[in-house]
Amino acid sequence: PVSIFWFRRDLRLEDNHGLLRALSAGFPVIPLFIFDPEILGELPRTDARVGFIHQQLQEMDRVLKQSGCAMQVRQGTPLEVFRDMLAEYEVKAVFTNRDYEPYARERDGEIESLLRHSGIPFHTFKDQVIFEMGEISKEKGDPYVVYTPYMKKWKAVFRTAGPIQAFPSEDRLSGFFKGGEQGFPSLQEIGFTPSPLKVPAYNLSGTLVENYERTRNIPAVEGTSRLGPHLRFGTISIRKALKKALEAKNETFWNELIWREFFMQILWHFPHTAREAFKKPYDRIAWRNREEDFELWKNGQTGYALVDAGMRQLNQTGYMHNRVRMLTASFLCKHLLIDWRWGEAYFAEKLLDYEMSSNVGNWQWAAGSGVDAAPYFRIFNPITQAEKFDPRHQYIRQWVPEYGSPDYPPKMVEHTSARNRCLETYKAALG
Ligand code: FAD
Repeated sequence: PVSIFWFRRDLRLEDNHGLLRALSAGFPVIPLFIFDPEILGELPRTDARVGFIHQQLQEMDRVLKQSGCAMQVRQGTPLEVFRDMLAEYEVKAVFTNRDYEPYARERDGEIESLLRHSGIPFHTFKDQVIFEMGEISKEKGDPYVVYTPYMKKWKAVFRTAGPIQAFPSEDRLSGFFKGGEQGFPSLQEIGFTPSPLKVPAYNLSGTLVENYERTRNIPAVEGTSRLGPHLRFGTISIRKALKKALEAKNETFWNELIWREFFMQILWHFPHTAREAFKKPYDRIAWRNREEDFELWKNGQTGYALVDAGMRQLNQTGYMHNRVRMLTASFLCKHLLIDWRWGEAYFAEKLLDYEMSSNVGNWQWAAGSGVDAAPYFRIFNPITQAEKFDPRHQYIRQWVPEYGSPDYPPKMVEHTSARNRCLETYKAALG
């Protein structure tokens, strides 16, 4: 008899809640990861995120081999893989960490009912957030849809919850199942080739976190943690990241981690907002959606240097500074009147730190249609944004070397007329 721990977006052996619970339950644990064609099918064959997942699984496999165990990495839909596993092993229980995205919830529901038919329990745990689902809610149990009261309640609940829990799963590696080695598929065997892009290491040094307030808004400076992909794939636990923020007593950094949870819980409570405006009237906006405008924006050829620098940084590195993400998103929705869903999809394809809840939440914020969104009539001015956040053009020159030369394209729209067009279009939809 065995139990299974199913890894998804928690690719680490240390401080892993569900994994610790599986290893404490008494049966040898099979560590399982599934490359799911539903998820992989849409991605470009050189997707760097798949390479990152593969590399992390290999690293976990290397550590497990020291205790005579191995990762089981399988390909197929989760239903197919679990059917196979149930046929091959006497499975007593399946453990996993909860995932709040719409597709994941549906998938987990299917697996749970498959297992139920065989009388096998499916145990799920909170791991990727500090607080989940209904834990931070208003007096009557309704979810918060405005950040500041959510954040205040989050901190109040946190203060009464005692110290941050730790789940030292790495101390129990001998509890894994020995044998059953399947052979570890290469990246090519799952249909991908290595990408020139790499996920950078995160920086949680005391200096970075202490200076965060001062440096985080300057795109030319490496002033942010680069935690994004690591939180996305669980190569660091949120508990460890939060501890660092608390040790450095940096409230601003702490608040950013709470923004992440805020958007995760919004998507959990309102899964339809992945596709629809949170504020319904915003789905009446008559977007212009001109393909040729979208191409110029994607390629960083708008003639607005900070917008172009951001898009080129994204295209070349899979990352864009937050300040510039806000500007490029606003520019697409408001100056070009292109549906936020187009921009959201483009970021989803390119960002190494792509996270559905944060991406949708921030795009809807930029479009004005989301929870706690900026009022629609506040329209970023791409010129003054550059003067304020990149006054010496360091960031702009890094990504747009031809800036200021005749090779640099002219402005694709004039700011004031684009602004007025936006206001009229939004007003017509919102009444
Ligand atoms: P840091 O500034 O060091 O922040 C630490 C962590 O806090 C981040 O890794 C992230 O987990 C969280 N965080 C910070 N800002 C936000 C925020 N505004 N919303 C939610 N969480 C936040 N973030 C993503 O993780 N995935 C996305 O797909 C994503 N898409 C975005 C799209 C747009 C249009 C905008 C304006 C922002 C988006 N963000 C997204 C939020 C933010 O830009 C990134 O989290 C941040 O730039 C990542 O860099 P970092 O890890 O160095 O962040």
